[in-house]
Amino acid sequence: MAIPRKKFVAGNFKMNTTSSEVAPYLESFRLETEKINEVDIVLIPPFTSLSKVSEILGGAQKIRLGAQNMSSEAKGAYTGEISAAMLRDLFVRYVLVGHSERRRLFGETDETVRRKLVTALNSELRPILCIGETLEERQAGQEKNILESQLRAALEGLSAEEISEVVIAYEPVWAIGTGLTATPEQAQEAHSFIRDHLGKLAGTSVANKARILYGGSVTPSNARELMSQEDIDGALVGGASLDPRGFAEIVAAAVPAK
Ligand code: PEP
Repeated sequence: MAIPRKKFVAGNFKMNTTSSEVAPYLESFRLETEKINEVDIVLIPPFTSLSKVSEILGGAQKIRLGAQNMSSEAKGAYTGEISAAMLRDLFVRYVLVGHSERRRLFGETDETVRRKLVTALNSELRPILCIGETLEERQAGQEKNILESQLRAALEGLSAEEISEVVIAYEPVWAIGTGLTATPEQAQEAHSFIRDHLGKLAGTSVANKARILYGGSVTPSNARELMSQEDIDGALVGGASLDPRGFAEIVAAAVPAK
């Protein structure tokens, strides 16, 4: 029997949107999503807009706040870095860890990803751990090995309780920002594999409750079919989250059919 898991949709603005642009965005997005209570919604703007978004959303946030990155260090001489405590201070609840752009463009290794993930957990931030294979790895039939090794590197040795705090995002690198989307069948196969593997690391109860998001060129037109797959519990949306109406449509597509 399928386990009910509340859908989760997060919008990663990447390096887009100034702090003065977030007010009109939020006005429109909140209006479009005000009647939706069945989906956990997370906005992940750049660091420079976190404070403004937090202020506009206010204390009782129906929409939660996430950060795109974070230092693995607690504080100190790390020019240009942002700590977990600084994020918590702005009421940030989630942080992306291991996004493929950080791995590919900024040299983040599995070791960096693990350190950040552990720091997030120790700081009461919930990590959204991004994993996924490149096109070459998929063409070589290696996608499951890659997913397994990224999951193991990030999570092995953590307690089941710690792992239960982690949201996983399956983001095939070849689908990010390219307009190429994994088919619902390809995505479902990867998600089911990830859930099985989480079961090995943390037990079936944690695995059955874990939210596993799909990311990679999600749009209002493909969102519903992707998110109706059994093991796809929501979406991590990049480019399409920049348009508040389009992003609201994706959130609406996550509402389970009555
Ligand atoms: C992302 O950045 O996590 C992402 C999935 O981007 P896009 O939706 O633009 O492919």
